[in-house]
This record gives sequence, C-alpha cells and structure tokens, in this order.
Amino acid sequence: MLAPRPLREYNSILKNSSRVDVLFGYCYPSTYRAGMTGLALQILYSALNSRDDTSCERYFRHQTQSPALSVESNRPLRDNHIIGFTLTYEEDILNLIQMLVIGKIPVLAEDRTDNDPIVIIGGPVVSSNPEPYVDFVDAFVIGEGDLVIHNIIDIVKATDSRYGSIAALAEMDGLYVPTTKPSSVSHITIPDLDALEYPVAQVIPDVEEGSKLEPVFGKSFLLEVTRGCGHSCKFCLVGHICQPRRTRSLERLQDLVKQGIEQTPVNKVSLIGSSLGDLDRLEELVCWMVAKGVDVSVPSLRADSISKDLLDCLVKSGQRTLTIAPETGSSKLRKSMGKGLTDSDIEMAVKTAESVGYNSLKLYFIIGLPGETEEDIHSTVKMIQNIAKNSTMKITASVNPFVPKARTRWELEPQLELDALRTTLRNIEDQLKNVPRLTIETLDPRSARIQAALSIGNRSLGKVIRTAATYGGYGGWRRAEKETGISLLSLASDPERFSKGIPWAYLK
Ligand code: SF4
Repeated sequence: MLAPRPLREYNSILKNSSRVDVLFGYCYPSTYRAGMTGLALQILYSALNSRDDTSCERYFRHQTQSPALSVESNRPLRDNHIIGFTLTYEEDILNLIQMLVIGKIPVLAEDRTDNDPIVIIGGPVVSSNPEPYVDFVDAFVIGEGDLVIHNIIDIVKATDSRYGSIAALAEMDGLYVPTTKPSSVSHITIPDLDALEYPVAQVIPDVEEGSKLEPVFGKSFLLEVTRGCGHSCKFCLVGHICQPRRTRSLERLQDLVKQGIEQTPVNKVSLIGSSLGDLDRLEELVCWMVAKGVDVSVPSLRADSISKDLLDCLVKSGQRTLTIAPETGSSKLRKSMGKGLTDSDIEMAVKTAESVGYNSLKLYFIIGLPGETEEDIHSTVKMIQNIAKNSTMKITASVNPFVPKARTRWELEPQLELDALRTTLRNIEDQLKNVPRLTIETLDPRSARIQAALSIGNRSLGKVIRTAATYGGYGGWRRAEKETGISLLSLASDPERFSKGIPWAYLK
C-alpha cells in the first residue's frame, strides 16, 4: 500500500481510524531518514498494525510535511491515544520537545489532562538513565519494547481514563512511571529471539538511490541477527544493558530472509547486531545469501573475528568497506577497557580485507579515555599512520571523545574538559594531515559534553532541556544554562556530580 503524497512508500499501512480502538503515534525525534534506518520503527509499526484494534502511524521531526501530521494520513499527533518515541541519541530530546510543542501537546507531563495522549519514551538512552527526561514523560519503557508493546495497548484499551491507564502501566514490569517513585525498576529483555514476531514486510521509501530520504544503509531489508554483545567493554552501553547476548538460529534467519525478500521490494539485506563476527555461522549465512543473488551489508566487525572466507563472500555481495573499532592505538588502554583486541588482530584484519578486494576502511577511535596519557594518544596516531602506510585502501578514521554512560563500568569516570578535548583532537588532526588517502571525522566536543551530561545527569536537567528546546542548537544549550543557572556543559567533569547519589540507581 502506498502512503499519500508527497512521500511515497512501500508497505506503509493505512487503516480507518474510526474503526479501531487505539490510535498510536510512533514518533522519531529526528529526520525521516534516520528514523527509517532504525529497526525499532519497523518492529513496533508491524506489531501494532498486526492488531485489528490498533492503528499505528508515523511522525518525524524533519523531512516530512509536518512533525504534527502523520506520514500515512495526516492524522494530527494529538489525536492519538498514545504517542511513543524512540530516543536513540541524547541530543534528540530537543527535537522531541519541539514535536510536542508543534503537536499542541503539553510539554510537561503534569500539565496534561484526560484529553491529551499518553507520552511514552523507550530506547537505549532512557533505558540507561531516564532521570533527565522525567518532566516530559508519562511512562518510560526500560529495556526491549517489543516485549511490552501489546500489554501497553491492552491496558489502554481496557481502562476508561488516561489516569487509569498510567496507573495500570506503573504496575507493569519494564515500565517506569516517574510519578509513582518506585524503589526499583527492572530492565526487561526477551530470552528467545526465535520465538519473537519479526517484521518481514518492512516500510521502504520509494525514492531514488542517494536521495536525502533514503535510509542510511540504503533501501534494504533489516535482519536482526543478535541482540546484546558477548563482550562488555567498559565504555559501551550495548555491552552492559543488552545482556545477555541472544542470537537467532540460522534456520530462522534464513526463513526471515526468504520472507523478507518476498514481501519487501529490495534485493539487499542489512545485518543488524553487535560484534556479529562472533556468530558461529555468520559466514554460512552470508555466503548462503550471496549464492541467492542477494546483496549483503554488515555493520562493524570485531577485528579478531574476521576470516578470509567471510570477507570473500562480503566482497562478492557488493560490500567494499570494512569497519572495525580499535578504539585506541594503545594496547595498554585496550586491555584496561576490556576490549581484548591485540595490535596483530587489527593488522591482520586490515591485511585480509585488502587481500580479498576491499577498497576502503573505516576505523573508530576514542580519545579522553580514563587513564589515557600523551603516549597513548601518540599510539593512536601511530596506528593510523601505519595502517595507511601498509595499505592502499581509502581510510576514514572517526575519532571521538569518550562519553561516560550510565550503567556501564565507566559510568563514574569524568570526561575531559572542553578545551582539553579540542586540543587533543586538533593535535591528532595536525599530525595526520599529510597522510595520503586518509579522512578524519570527529564529533564536536560540545556535542560530546552535552551527551555526557544527559547520560549521567539527574532530573534537575529538565529545566535546562526545556529552555534549550525553545532556542535549539548549541547556542540554545548555552542560553539555557545562563537562564536557568544550571550548568550542563561542565557536568561530566564536576567532582560533585554524584554528591546526591547515582540518579539511575533504582534501575536493576
Ligand atoms: S564495544 Fe563492541 S565488542 Fe565491546 S561491548 Fe560494545 S558492542 Fe561489544
């Protein structure tokens, strides 16, 4: 079924709103392109619309007619009984608030009445630490949303007031209703991925290749292979909050690919999951798809899990860029963060990629790590220089500041001050500026500071967030700090930041 103009899509679903009991607005607080790249949208959209009693329509902050009108039918945002956001990146909270404002929904949860939708937020950001956002939200999903989405609809359908629904949601495992102030909230995870419903008819925009509306991985069928990660690098959120690692069986994955390619009009499969190379039968899965004439794309692979046969198959399927994350050139720091990669693992991965025909390499590094010295930074520069010297591939090195994340083993570590981050990044760029075929990408240190503050902050940040949303951009955060008297940009290095306790201590 096609959505109404101007956005044409395959597999979008339009129901008669007057013939269902529950209207759900799925909101992504960023661009259409970013939202359509995420698996959460496909999973929730499909699960909700599989019910005869529910209509789910989508809303995006940017690139659609209006953030307050659905892509499917221009249904006004505030006409929904529930609006559910996925918050993937901390800074998108400003977009989220702007969507509420434009949709004429009171921004503060305490100002909402029985005529307003219930506002729910899920996603990795709030599963790690929901506290900075409590002012704006009626309920948070802590953990994996596909486990509770049907119960949420059943509750809202069965209760006759908004307040009754929220009170009933507060009783559910994995739901956090801030007004109830529970002593603990459990994080929910699905034990068996094979038993789970999976969206095989995925929504795909009908746009030209290279269009600004095209999802980041291109027009492809998203195949979730694993959830969680078998490693737990001390800085990494996935390695901590998505435990244990779960994997779909090869048989189930092959079945999903067959159905997916039949029901989604694409000939490319993007594999989704962390540290996929650890999967016993990844090579078999990839080579099976390649033999069927399907293009395959994989996200980053651990350097120690790469085999020549796997990369051979990926090259045949059209992949030409290998992405690996050494994190740092210092083997001492790699060891202390629990990454478990050696220099020779990384060298071998690069050599293998080049030998089978890859033509570009993407490398991820972090600076400002706990315990980092000048020498460690120098090791990162050296590693990039050596890789460039010993290969003919194009190289993109993405060098980003360390962001302490709640619920990781490095949650209490401070972040480097803004000036120190800037100086370190500038020095690295200076030392690498003459390396041929190398592009350096960096995250703006101001963004890293905002992300860190929102990752580890408490509910006092609500005021700053709300004020920043009225202005937007970095300037907005600065003005909000001044107007509220609450410092946000310096929070992640403030020695007093946990003097009132750990804000997310109640999450179990
Ligand atoms: S950094 Fe990669 S390997 Fe380490 S825990 Fe995170 S996803 Fe797993």
